[in-house]
Amino acid sequence: MNPTPSKPLRPASAIRSTDDLVLARVKVADGVPPQNLSRFGDDIWDLGPAVFSQTARRRACRVAFGGIDCPVERLTAKEYIFAWLNERLPDPAGRLPPLRAQGALSDLRRFMDFVREREGRFAPALLEQPLLDDWLAFQNSRPIRPGQVAASLRPVYQLHRLAPFLTHGGPAFQPWNGRPAAMVAGCRAISSENLTPRIPEAVIGAILKWSLHYVDDFAPDILAARAEIDRLKAAAKDGGRQPRAPGLTESAALWIEGRRKAGRGMPIWSVPDRMGGVCGANPRLRNPGGPVLNMQLIAAQIPAHPVSLVQNKVVHDMLHRAIVELGCEPGGLDTRISTLPEIGHPWRDRFDSHTLAHEERHLQTAAYILCSYLTGMRDGEVQAMRPGSLRHSRSTDGMTERLAIRSLVTKGRDASGEQAEWITIAPAARAVQIAEQLALRHRSADMAKGSIGIWAVLHRASAKDRGLPHIVRRINEFRDHLDRQFGADDRPAIPLVDGRPWVFNTRQFRRTVAWHIANRPFGVIAGKLQYKHASVAMFDGYAGTSASGFRQEVEAERHLGQLEDIVTHYEARLRGEPLAGPAATRIAAELRRVVDEMGPLPGLLADAKRVKAILSHLARTLHVGILNDCFFERGTALCLSSAKDASDMPRLSACAPDRCPNSCISQAHLSAWQGAIARAEAILGDKLLSKLQRDVIRQDRDRMRKLIAPLVGVIPT
Ligand code: SF4
Repeated sequence: MNPTPSKPLRPASAIRSTDDLVLARVKVADGVPPQNLSRFGDDIWDLGPAVFSQTARRRACRVAFGGIDCPVERLTAKEYIFAWLNERLPDPAGRLPPLRAQGALSDLRRFMDFVREREGRFAPALLEQPLLDDWLAFQNSRPIRPGQVAASLRPVYQLHRLAPFLTHGGPAFQPWNGRPAAMVAGCRAISSENLTPRIPEAVIGAILKWSLHYVDDFAPDILAARAEIDRLKAAAKDGGRQPRAPGLTESAALWIEGRRKAGRGMPIWSVPDRMGGVCGANPRLRNPGGPVLNMQLIAAQIPAHPVSLVQNKVVHDMLHRAIVELGCEPGGLDTRISTLPEIGHPWRDRFDSHTLAHEERHLQTAAYILCSYLTGMRDGEVQAMRPGSLRHSRSTDGMTERLAIRSLVTKGRDASGEQAEWITIAPAARAVQIAEQLALRHRSADMAKGSIGIWAVLHRASAKDRGLPHIVRRINEFRDHLDRQFGADDRPAIPLVDGRPWVFNTRQFRRTVAWHIANRPFGVIAGKLQYKHASVAMFDGYAGTSASGFRQEVEAERHLGQLEDIVTHYEARLRGEPLAGPAATRIAAELRRVVDEMGPLPGLLADAKRVKAILSHLARTLHVGILNDCFFERGTALCLSSAKDASDMPRLSACAPDRCPNSCISQAHLSAWQGAIARAEAILGDKLLSKLQRDVIRQDRDRMRKLIAPLVGVIPT
């Protein structure tokens, strides 16, 4: 093929006017004047007014066409993005979310580059199936996954789909005969199962513990130290700078005397390598490897200018001689550090400005973890929280006061999302307050207007971007920090998993809490027990409906857990373990039937998927408990015999494990029963019991013994 030059092709759009609003049919934020919106003729389109995500980077909302030299390519790219954003077509593909426009343009440009290199120029008329096959072969030759190959094919499909809205058209034929991109790229069917790993209990327990310490125990120290630094800065500003003040020597001597009287050492930087500038360089040169005086703090406390302390030889020598006499004090701020009872001493050295900034970041990360885990919110939902998102509300019966967090749900909603409330507990509420406090001093003007969320980048004077970038990295840095600060070589603060630190991501928190609520014995009740600090409200909130879809995720986790539990029963059956309780005969017969159907595979679970499929009807009724498993059937449920509503869920709190025909007891429950029997024996040893009491307890003990007899192989007398 000998491509003709692109000159005859129109460089101007035959479909759009240069004045057309780019977001013409896209929902934009209230109050944005139309004259501020981008037009088709602009080389840079700002789609920010239509991006409602709180975590979106501002630059990610811009689409730039200026770098496309060829007028035909630029026009095609503009019309392509414009049409995908605005046109509603009668197919399931949907419109392009504004936040993905930049990526869509990059994908298209890569494809146009390929065509230009192959054909000498880009023109939609050149797109024929052999060329598309070459593009597919090129993508397949790259070291990328099939999913990425499928994504690279998207411009081809979209050029065909949007051809009516492109001046130069697109492929008139269905690429790859209409086969989906995923199939063309060789993607395997996607499992409906949630593949996000659950955080192991030891790991989530440890990170929650230290996050709670940060928010409840360490936060007052961190905030007090920040207030101290702010006070010193304000005083220095008010007092004016006097680098060559005649009283500097006397002031320094007085300050050293004050230090001597207080029994304190000379303030040194905790991490001297991080101290730059003249304050750090000079002492490091004089005393390499030794302590570096925190001149910044000394100057603020005297007060004086730090440079004057360094340049005034007399004062400089005086301060360094004082190190020999008074010793060193890492950090040096006056704010005292609280003792952590668990370790029996202050949780860290005093702060300097560097270590304080780091601890503020860790405090913010701890607050994020608590919000994320204790509410079940997604990352976008946590980061969409605005000042004042914490609310007090009452349960529907008006009896219980509940804490709720209000934020924005975007998943499954249109671009602007939908406001929703998450019922939560006091620790999460405190975490929200801490996050607000930390952010306040960095973005007070914007926060007052409520236009920016409560998660701010703390090391910037003012947060221009929205939300916390790189939050996953921050959480893993927090884990490393906890290990360094509170762990030992052989005992990290956050336990290792398979010999390695657990790698956190934000999705894991939601999945883990959903699984925990769904699958621990007694579900909601166990949640209350595990989170001793948690009020009933948190789990009652989870048990209700949730606009964010969290309840559905809990149900999905419950279903997965039920399948795993029924396989556990099946494996126990293969090992010949007996069952007890009123439902034992029914369940044992059902398991035996499946064992027979699966064939003789002693002690070996050959095909877990098949077992799950065969037993799924039984799994659906299974509710795991501490004293028994309930294979629920509404008609025979003793716990519902007096219930007025037509509930289809067992009331595990009213369970009668020894009498209900749905109750089944296995080896997993044995220790709980044996513990109850031992407690009854201990009570019977009390000589002060009346005969009536003794008889009742004895009967109870005998009933329990009889119940578990099949499990322990003892025939009760
Ligand atoms: S009484 Fe217990 S075993 Fe029976 S249905 Fe209710 S919860 Fe299940």
